[in-house]
Amino acid sequence: MHLGLEGRRAAVAAASSGLGLAAARALAAEGARVAICGRDRERLASAAEAVGGGAHPILADVGSPEGATAFVREAQDALGGVDILVTNAGGPPPGGFASTPVDAYGAALDLNLISVVAMCKAAVPAMRERRWGRVVAITSLSVRQPIGNLILSNTARAGATGFLKTLAREVAGDGVTVNSLLPGSHATDRLRELNDGDLDRVAAGVPAGEVGDPADFGAFVAFLCSVHARYVTGSAIPVDGGEYAALL
Ligand code: NAD
Repeated sequence: MHLGLEGRRAAVAAASSGLGLAAARALAAEGARVAICGRDRERLASAAEAVGGGAHPILADVGSPEGATAFVREAQDALGGVDILVTNAGGPPPGGFASTPVDAYGAALDLNLISVVAMCKAAVPAMRERRWGRVVAITSLSVRQPIGNLILSNTARAGATGFLKTLAREVAGDGVTVNSLLPGSHATDRLRELNDGDLDRVAAGVPAGEVGDPADFGAFVAFLCSVHARYVTGSAIPVDGGEYAALL
């Protein structure tokens, strides 16, 4: 299938490794011109090399509204505009209600909610003017099924999903789609950290019997950005090997 992404300009946040890097690689493989961000110059440079296609590395921390906005602005400057925005960030620290202090919520909301708002604020108006755009937000299966020891993530992602749904309907008539992908368990540093490196144990709890391959996840991002996905908007789609157990 031909995705029609040649020459499209994509900004992919938090792409030094993991799902962001996989998304950037998939978009570049389809001919998109890509800018990525991360917080560590060396890791970012090797990620840009791994993405290929002359990907632009942009040093930015999306954990503050200023950092998130600056990333998109620099990507627009480097690429001459942004047609595709993939919002992403690291996950907040684990913890439940009792172990998580009130003052931990602000940073988590900045990281996983306000960053999404800030990047969309910077990127979407020009997409609307050009009457073509794609926003894909990497969130979490916790949007559908909150995870016990990740109360900060559960709280922030719910807000981000409400924001994205509202935005999707507001801009749908301008050729801009806004969707989120909800990763279940994928083989990345984050999943290893949360599970003491034991991905076999995680896999045993997934109906598919394995953890997800970030490359497959990246390919799904690319499809959502394709010409064929133009009628898909406002969706929050689990990519989880069957982990989500409810009907809808
Ligand atoms: P990861 O931690 O393995 O990789 C995140 C990447 O983003 C790293 O390269 C990191 O350096 C970079 N990064 C982190 N914070 C950043 C910041 N503030 N600014 C710029 N770059 C930053 O995470 P991942 O597994 O690739 O997951 C991506 C997102 O999806 C995370 O928010 C995670 O919580 C969520 N998620 C992942 C899974 C999974 O199975 N991997 C499941 C559910 C949700």
